[in-house]
Amino acid sequence: MKINERFLELKDSYLFAKVGQKTAEYRAAHPEKKVIKLSIGDVTRPLAPAVVRAMQKAVGEMSQKETFKGYGPDRYCYGYASLLESIKGSYRRKNVALSSDEIFISDGAKSDLGNILDLFAQDNLVLVPDPVYPVYVDTNIMGGRRIVYADATEENGFLPMPDERIKADLIYICSPNNPTGAAYTCEQLKVWVDYALKRNAVILYDAAYEYFIEEDGLARSIYEVEGARECAIEFCSFSKTAGFTGVRCGYTVVPKELVRSGASLNRLWARRQSTKFNGVSYISQMGAAAVFTEEGEREIRENIGYYKRNAERIAKMLRDLNLFYTGGKNSPYLWLKCPKGMDSWGFFDYLLENANVVGTPGSGFGKNGDGFFRLTAFGDADETEEACARIKKLFI
Ligand code: PLP
Repeated sequence: MKINERFLELKDSYLFAKVGQKTAEYRAAHPEKKVIKLSIGDVTRPLAPAVVRAMQKAVGEMSQKETFKGYGPDRYCYGYASLLESIKGSYRRKNVALSSDEIFISDGAKSDLGNILDLFAQDNLVLVPDPVYPVYVDTNIMGGRRIVYADATEENGFLPMPDERIKADLIYICSPNNPTGAAYTCEQLKVWVDYALKRNAVILYDAAYEYFIEEDGLARSIYEVEGARECAIEFCSFSKTAGFTGVRCGYTVVPKELVRSGASLNRLWARRQSTKFNGVSYISQMGAAAVFTEEGEREIRENIGYYKRNAERIAKMLRDLNLFYTGGKNSPYLWLKCPKGMDSWGFFDYLLENANVVGTPGSGFGKNGDGFFRLTAFGDADETEEACARIKKLFI
């Protein structure tokens, strides 16, 4: 018996553990201080009432012999028609036409981002932006693939563009990006699509924060870009959109035109899912379908608006302090350059000790994150206001 030794190559995911530990230690040493967390990557607003009602109705159906549901529909990899139709409708509004068997309902984007790698050989070269959501790197280390990085820096606005010298086979794009909040325009994505098509590569496009986009010209789906159906898989989630981090539901789009080595990736993914996955609960799916109703949409937009007001408060504070930052507008994340040349952990300690505010050190998201810091808009409005006032006082 041999273990997969690549697991031993993974760095300890110490970022959030260390943030938690340092915060706990500070709280224990200073119980009189009120520590505010602007480090939360999870949603805090409750579910929209329309979603709750839909889930309650679904529970009722499960309790009656006539309406009880077991495994989901086989034909659509367990996705229920009402949810698939709603998702198709939301894509139509972006001028993207999908068929039901191109949409795969999942328990969230993270699982699918990891599982999709079952489809790809080990000797593919993987291109990952730096900094980014650490899951892309870790899942490829587990799979033993070679990784190269696309540098996201202050100079390129944290939006790296293709480098023709890099012969990437799998390309990760996260837009709006976690942690930088930077989002690509359709024109920029077209350059990535052309690069992928030329190389016969596949783009893995993470759209988990798509609902936060408010500016025109930014892509809400990679399929808004011509040619993307031949080269891209899109990962979507209800987690940040509708507060489903605890409910669990997402979906992945694999277009039928996506063919490599003569094989349809749509068919391979359907085969993979039907073999290793048994679908998402009916109750979660009915809750997700309610997100697309008029009421549901309005209610989730209210929650997103709440977070956006927090983001605007933080952005104003950063502008007042003349600190360089990205994000906050089309994203719940604000990515700032640490003042006075501090490194990420130095700034973390400084902020915790002097303002009793917790953020996330940028170095935890990749080497280019050092010297940067992530603040999030997912907290309570009053606490966010207070944290901003404290930080401002510290630097003025
Ligand atoms: N993708 C990105 C970029 C994220 O930041 C997150 C969660 O923080 C996810 C995916 C995970 O989403 P889900 O909750 O749907 O698994």
